[in-house]
This record gives sequence, structure tokens and C-alpha cells, in this order.
Amino acid sequence: MPKKSPSIAVSADPSKWSEASQRSVSAEWTSEYTDILYSCWHCKAESVFSAQDQKYTFEEKKAPIDQRRLLCQACWAESHRIAARLKEFDTRWAEQKQSLRTDKEFAAGWLETLELQERYVPYRHDVARKNMLRKLLGDA
Ligand SMILES: [Zn+2]
Repeated sequence: MPKKSPSIAVSADPSKWSEASQRSVSAEWTSEYTDILYSCWHCKAESVFSAQDQKYTFEEKKAPIDQRRLLCQACWAESHRIAARLKEFDTRWAEQKQSLRTDKEFAAGWLETLELQERYVPYRHDVARKNMLRKLLGDA
């Protein structure tokens, strides 16, 4: 069996966490970070939320201390590309609602991108938006 590289613990400094995290019970007993293994929610690839990465995430970026990773690096990057495309759809819609109402290609592309996002993000599905787009696609 191949040897796994030993997980290296990194010392934690809870005084650098966000204020909410400092008030959590974790602040009392967290003295170091160790690698957290997880399976990517989308592609199931085995991934590591490394101790060093946790230190950066919680102490520099001030992310909530209970925040965990769901996606592997590749899927995370892809989910960001999808989010950027959705933002473009939102912007175009806000600016040209009148002309886009009858643009089925636009509605279909938007709906497809929303549905693609659901395979990467297990929460916050935009049901209202999807219903609106389905209605636009259904109307002649
Ligand atoms: Zn993945």
C-alpha cells in the first residue's frame, strides 16, 4: 500500500477569527488545524481541506469557523464560471427586459445555466427564476 503523506498540524490562532467565530465553542478548544478529508459533492473526488488552507480561510479571510469545503478544486472553479455566467444573464435581463422577453434562446440559455449550477451547489436553487423562464419559453 502506498504511504500517505502524514498530515501536518498547523497551529491555530482563534483571536484572528471573525468575531462570531470567536464567540463559538470552537474558540475554546481549537489549538491547531489538521487536514480534513472529504469527497467532492459534485464529482465525488477525494479532496483535502488542508490545515494550511484552513488557517488562511478562518484567520485571513475570516470565514465562519464551521465552514467546510463541498467541492474539489476543479469543480469549485467550474462553479465560479457558472456563477459568473448567471451574473451576466441577470445583468442583461435587468438592462433589456423588454426585448429579451421574446428571446427564447436567451431564456433557454439562462435556464440551462441555472440547472447546471444545481449540480454544483446543493442549496439556494432559484425556483422563482426558473419558473419565470419556463413560462417565457412556453409563451408563444
Ligand atoms: Zn469535484
